[in-house]
Amino acid sequence: MKKCPVCEGNMIQVEDITLELEGYVMILKGERCEQCREEFPYEKETQKAIDISHKLGIWPEPLKLKRHLSRSGGGLILRIPSDIEKQFKLNEKVEIAITKIGNKIILEPEK
Ligand SMILES: [Zn+2]
Repeated sequence: MKKCPVCEGNMIQVEDITLELEGYVMILKGERCEQCREEFPYEKETQKAIDISHKLGIWPEPLKLKRHLSRSGGGLILRIPSDIEKQFKLNEKVEIAITKIGNKIILEPEK
């Protein structure tokens, strides 16, 4: 049986991993740890959810940038590229919601 990468608990197959994006709820198949409840949608399912989001227009433009993280005060810092800063009208007061989908991290500025 597969072990959880987080806590080494037993992984069980599930078909009810819920993913909420912009008010749309998607149900994904994957595995869930019996112990820590961490959910791991299958890569194929994650991709399907991204494709659906693209069709619904709730996924940002195809845009992939690479950035290194820096460390400050014991925490990791991600620098937002300036074109994204302008496009989303970001500033230090904007709150960012962080969502984990499979092996991706989604950053959503609050409106
Ligand atoms: Zn676990």
